Order: sequence, then C-alpha cells, then structure tokens
Amino acid sequence: MQKELKLYNSPKKQKETFKPLHENFVGMYVCGPTVYKDVHLGNCRTFVSFDIIYRYLLYLGYRVRYVRNITDVGHLLDDGEDRVSQEAKIRNLEPMEIAQEITINFHEMMSIFNALPPNIEPRATGHIPEQIEMVQQIIDNGYAYEANGSVYFDTVKFKAEKGIYGELSGRKIDDLIAESRDLKNQDEKRNPVDFAIWMRASEEHIMKWNSPWSVGFPGWHLECSAMSRKYLGEQFDIHGGGNDLKFPHHENEIAQNVGSCNCEGPRYWLHTNMLLLNGKKMSKSEGNTISPDELITGKTIDGEKVEHISKGYSPMVIRFFMLQTHYRSTMDLTDEALQAAEKGYHRLMDALSVLQNLQHPGNGKAGKLDKDLQELVAKVHEEMSDDFNTPKALARLFEIVPKVNSLKGGQLSFNDLTAETLDLVKKTFQDYVFDVFGLKEESIAEDEDGVVDGIMNVLIDLRQEARLRRDWATSDKIRDDLKALGIELKDGKDGTAWTKS
Ligand code: AMP
Ligand code: ZN
Repeated sequence: MQKELKLYNSPKKQKETFKPLHENFVGMYVCGPTVYKDVHLGNCRTFVSFDIIYRYLLYLGYRVRYVRNITDVGHLLDDGEDRVSQEAKIRNLEPMEIAQEITINFHEMMSIFNALPPNIEPRATGHIPEQIEMVQQIIDNGYAYEANGSVYFDTVKFKAEKGIYGELSGRKIDDLIAESRDLKNQDEKRNPVDFAIWMRASEEHIMKWNSPWSVGFPGWHLECSAMSRKYLGEQFDIHGGGNDLKFPHHENEIAQNVGSCNCEGPRYWLHTNMLLLNGKKMSKSEGNTISPDELITGKTIDGEKVEHISKGYSPMVIRFFMLQTHYRSTMDLTDEALQAAEKGYHRLMDALSVLQNLQHPGNGKAGKLDKDLQELVAKVHEEMSDDFNTPKALARLFEIVPKVNSLKGGQLSFNDLTAETLDLVKKTFQDYVFDVFGLKEESIAEDEDGVVDGIMNVLIDLRQEARLRRDWATSDKIRDDLKALGIELKDGKDGTAWTKS
C-alpha cells in the first residue's frame, strides 16, 4: 500500500510529507462543537471532513488516537456572556442540561452521517484542574499576569521574547486590535491584544470554579491546549478545525503551549474550509443555517418547505455531496449540486454491486485492461494520499465504472484481466466506498414517486379529523403507533409535518 502521505500544513502554507512522531501511531486533536445550539450543516461539514481524514489514516494502517473535545464552558459571546450559560438562562435550565441535550443531538447527527466516534471526547468542564495548572505555568514563565482576579496572556512580551505569534493566521500583532472574542474587561489588559486565560466571574455568572486568582472560569482557547496535551502529549501529530478558528483560537493555543512548556504542540495543522449557503458562510450569527434534519426531510420544524432546496436528501447523499469537494475548498450548498450528488451516489453504489457480482471465469491474462485497472487503482490511492483529495479519488473510481459495466455487458473480455486484478479492483472499491469514504447502503426505500408521502398525508388527515371531532383516542393512537415505527409527527402553525428517525 502507498504509505507516503502528503498533507497541507496550514502555518507552512504548503504540502508536506507526513511523518508521525512515533512510527505507526498518530495523535490527532480536532476542535469539537460548542454545545449551546444544535450543530448546523457547516459544522457537520468540518466534522465529516475530519472523519474522512481519520478513516484514511486508519486505512493506511496507522493506530490513531483521535481526540475531539466538547466545549461546554468559556466560549463567550461578543458581550462577554458565556454561550452555554446564556442559553441556560434563556431556557431556564441548568447549563449542564443544555450541554447534555446538544451533545446528544450532535452525536446523533454524527451517527446519521456515519462519522466514527473519536477515541476520547473530553469536556472543558471536566478539565478545570488541568487548565488552572497551565495558567499557573504560563504565569511562572512570565507570559501571563493577573489583574483583578483575571489572568491575561501577555501577547506583546511573548512575541518580543519568543518571536512567535500570528504566523498561523498570517496576522501582524500591530493589526490585532480588539478582534479577540473576549472583549470584556479591556481596561484590565496591558495591551488590547492580550487575551484572557482565566476570567473572574461576576456574581450572577453560573459556571465558575475556585482558582488561586478568583472564583472564575477558563478562557476558551485554554481547554484545547490543556486537553490536547493531557491526552496526546506536549508534542503530537495533527491538530484540526475549521479555518475560521485559525484566529484567535488556534493562534492563542500555540502561544499557550509555548508559553507554558516551550512546546508548540501539534506538528501539522489542518484546516477545513467553510460550507456556504448562496455564497455566504453558513453560521448561526448570520442566521443562514440549515440543520441536518431540515436538509434530510426538506421541511422546517414547523413543517414548512426549507428555502433553497426542492426536497429532502438522504444522509448518504449529503455525505457524498461533501466528498465531492476538497476539504480546503469552500463548498456551496445548492439544490443542483445536491441533485447531482444524489445521482452520483447511486451510480457509485450500483457500480459497486455490479462489481461484487462479477465472477472471473479464470484463465485471464495480464493484458491492456489489466494494466489500465491496476493504474487506476494506484491513482485512487495517490489522490487520497495527496492531501486527502476525495473529489479526485472519487473521479478515479468513476473512471473504473465504465470498464466494470463493459465487463458485465460483454464489450470487454475477461481474457485481458487476471482474477487477482479483478479482486484488487473489487477490494479497492469496497474499501474506499465503505471504510475510507464512510458511505453506506441506504436501506430506506426511496420515495421517488411520493407513495410514502401520500400515505403519510392520509394518516395525518385522518388524525386531524379525529382531533376535530375530539376523538383523542384515535388521534393519539395514530401518533403513538407511528412513533413506534420511528416516525415523529410535529404539529406546527401550518399543519403537521413528519420525520423518520
Ligand atoms: P463551533 O461549535 O462554532 O465552535 O464550531 C464547530 C466547528 O465547526 C469548528 O471547527 C468551526 O470551524 C466549524 N464551522 C463553523 N461554521 C462552519 C461552516 N459554515 N462550514 C464549515 N465548518 C464550520
Ligand atoms: Zn479548540
């Protein structure tokens, strides 16, 4: 198997040959979600991209320790309020109830998209002592100072002494004014580019812990430095996240790592590009998000049609759609692209089933067809080993498809092909489709002619009629029986919508 893997190392702005710190082992840390609102499709794009990277490292034979955190404290809004706390206040719940609910939803989405779970999924609130220890180390090394119970990283002194800061994101320290997420308490800072690594909590703040400096909470960037070090060591192989995290999050992580132990942490930084909706980054603050549920069902929670798309798309079609763009390119979510992905996904799965049913009659020689197929198989690996180029690897698999169909149809002869090469093609197809790309057969019958939808509408109407005549027993029976089949009815202002779990 092709072992040389090239990956694009963000701070170096170039592809490099991947050399793990310890032969055959890979330590990979990926920034996980902030669990205050359900993940949107943009978040899913990033996590699916790292799932494919993880899967390919496993496929190459590495033993991978994949750590993806849960941010449940410290990620502040621009006004200085913690995102999880704010949501807890709005919904009158405990912050941990919010974190738990959103984490469960996140796991469900990851499993719907067939993303493998990480080996360790540490929570920021579960690692407060480790974060306090790191703050202390940075203070001891002279790169942080306390002010009024909060502790700030002394970015200016750090840059002057260590000569590092801003390289990953390409920022100049002079230009970095007030861009960081913790805009609160600017006056306590020696310099506006300093950032909080520990924050004193106000009376009404809910999530807070004792520390040598105050009852407070850690700065957002600290958790990833502390937890990656705990589980992967002072130096490790890969750190990933969306490219919107380069600054300030990842830049500050590097500063904290070096500031505490003189170690940069990760050796390779991988950044995914953004999912766009109509040319604009999909984000909660822009209000242009589509949830996975909405894309799958084609309906909003109120049962209305989702803007921008003509219908729902299955999870594997969405995953296939994501595979068609390289992780470092922006990806525009459009109905046309999804429809094309739907066709592509079915073509790929159909080809796989044709291939699996091909039986070599024996006595084949290594002719031109044999050579062509061997070359294409090698190219599939080459493309994936060239910075995980899924669209090109897919294109190489699709170059194999007409040959497979011609073998089936008799236009190409098995005489030119050895049984070993046919087995190699079968294995490559299967390994890539299932293990590397993480696609699955979708067993749910497609409802192209709308029969299921039609039946559901009949049931929804019957239930509505029962409710109008106050026949609660019948209306409840319809809802409960459907629920037992995994079908959920949601009543909204414009009628009832249904979803299949
Ligand atoms: P958050 O929950 O906001 O901390 O984000 C979780 C992950 O999703 C981070 O790695 C972000 O970079 C990533 N992300 C956020 N928006 C998008 C988007 N539109 N496209 C791709 N990734 C995104
Ligand atoms: Zn992080």
